[in-house]
Amino acid sequence: MDGGAGVPPDPLADVCAPLADLEQRASATGDGGIDDDAGVAEPAPARNVIVLIGDGTGAAHWEAARAAAGRALAVDSLEGPVLYGTDSLSIGVATDSAAGATAIATGRCTHNGAVSASAGARLTTLFQVAGRAGKGTGVVTNTFIIDATPMAFAVQTPSRYCADDIAAQLFAGDGPDVILGGFVPSSFFAGDGLEALASASGYRVGFDLAALRAEATDDAPVLGLFGEGPSVPGWPEWENGLTPEILRAADSDEPTLAEMASFALDRLGRHDEGFVLVVENEHPDTVGHVAYLDVPLAAEWMPGLVLELDDAVAEVTRWVEQESSFDETLVVVCADHETGGYALGPEGEVASATFPSSPNHTRAAVPIFARGPGAERLRDVMHLTDIFHLLTGNLGVLPGTGGCPP
Ligand SMILES: [Zn+2]
Repeated sequence: MDGGAGVPPDPLADVCAPLADLEQRASATGDGGIDDDAGVAEPAPARNVIVLIGDGTGAAHWEAARAAAGRALAVDSLEGPVLYGTDSLSIGVATDSAAGATAIATGRCTHNGAVSASAGARLTTLFQVAGRAGKGTGVVTNTFIIDATPMAFAVQTPSRYCADDIAAQLFAGDGPDVILGGFVPSSFFAGDGLEALASASGYRVGFDLAALRAEATDDAPVLGLFGEGPSVPGWPEWENGLTPEILRAADSDEPTLAEMASFALDRLGRHDEGFVLVVENEHPDTVGHVAYLDVPLAAEWMPGLVLELDDAVAEVTRWVEQESSFDETLVVVCADHETGGYALGPEGEVASATFPSSPNHTRAAVPIFARGPGAERLRDVMHLTDIFHLLTGNLGVLPGTGGCPP
């Protein structure tokens, strides 16, 4: 959710105006570097790119998960970590998930709330770059599917709250081949909901993974909408999406993040020209937002929530080693920002972790890990926008922003 995105009312509806093409904004300056398309070069030497995003997941989060697991994590098999900054063009506040994901998805700075758009113009996204190269694209998340983080790779809209615009763009043609995430209530939309739009544009739709598998017997694109919003004491009622894995009932039919990633890889691995897959774990961010309400409960939950992403990293790594190789597939694990100022106790104990900045995001530097083509330049990642260059094989080739200008 992040900053209240789980709330259906649309306070910014009047800003959901059509965006201009970048070409029409060729003379624009001072808006985060929107001058032309020059920042987008030919796609990476990597045939396949898999980026896993821990929403709100800082260095202490990973350390807590490592301590709780009592073992090395899957993420520890990658290069790194390297710490980088996450500021956006919004002054005086930390980035939100929309601007954070935009920076990863486009290599450009924007203001909080904007989704791969800035100053009224569309920003070319990683999925568009991949599509031009004939690659498949997929997005997987355990929050509601039209949340800002996953959507920054797939659509361009002035505000994360433009739900109808997001849905329309997602299924207007050339949408992702795989879209898996949390169910979105029809109350989010003034017009048709996701299922109707998806079906009309040829998507196979399923509400659990088994049903989706049964439905998706051909190479048509797929939409999986899972869960109905967690009903867990202490978990925010406004948070739509999948139930955290550590809090599920034994008979839950909700897929894990790793299972969704595996399904996506099975589909995308069929593409002759390779693919780009984005996997997001929203749950550490959610808890960072509400931790101040019940710090001990948040401290108890956090390591297990971070491990949802690490389990997905393990699944991705297994897929690369069995079905591909790190010679042709780049795996990147990063964050969009830190949430809550999460810190371990004085002796490193997880149970007494603190959240001094909850409910807010912070500007703490966050870690990135990577393995595969281009990962040898990981130390050049200084800011979120550099991750786009890493993903497209241009890190150290094209200049980074060095951070977003105030
Ligand atoms: Zn976020």
